[in-house]
Amino acid sequence: MRSVNEMNLEEIVEQLKAKKIKLTTQRMEIIKFVSKMEKGHFEAKELFSVLSKKIPSLSIATLYSTLYLLVDLGVIYSFSDGQKTIFDFNPAPHGHFVCRICGKIEDIEIKKLDLEKIRGKREKIEIVIRGVCEDCLKRVKD
Ligand SMILES: [Zn+2]
Ligand SMILES: [Zn+2]
Repeated sequence: MRSVNEMNLEEIVEQLKAKKIKLTTQRMEIIKFVSKMEKGHFEAKELFSVLSKKIPSLSIATLYSTLYLLVDLGVIYSFSDGQKTIFDFNPAPHGHFVCRICGKIEDIEIKKLDLEKIRGKREKIEIVIRGVCEDCLKRVKD
């Protein structure tokens, strides 16, 4: 699956239209902005503080619903770090290591996951490993 950065804006718009999703001006602004962003992890409120300067009437609810539209399309991915929802520009299956001290998130490659054993319908894969990152471990020791 390609990331939002590789999928161009027209393709995203086409797919949303095919699903009969109404593209309001606000939604378009959000999608445009997200499609230009660098790869990485972010929280909706971080994006909200930037976007609400461009779109003063934007509500956090509209932002969330638009982000989840993109999650449903498979162009971005969302997971919980244990406290909050994190959005990820890399939709390919991978795990995350979350530092409980500084909150840093690192991507973890999943080499093998035996999904054949699941007999029901698979809806979401979330692999989150919590711990203390190398930098924070060093700081604790010093
Ligand atoms: Zn840390
Ligand atoms: Zn990630």
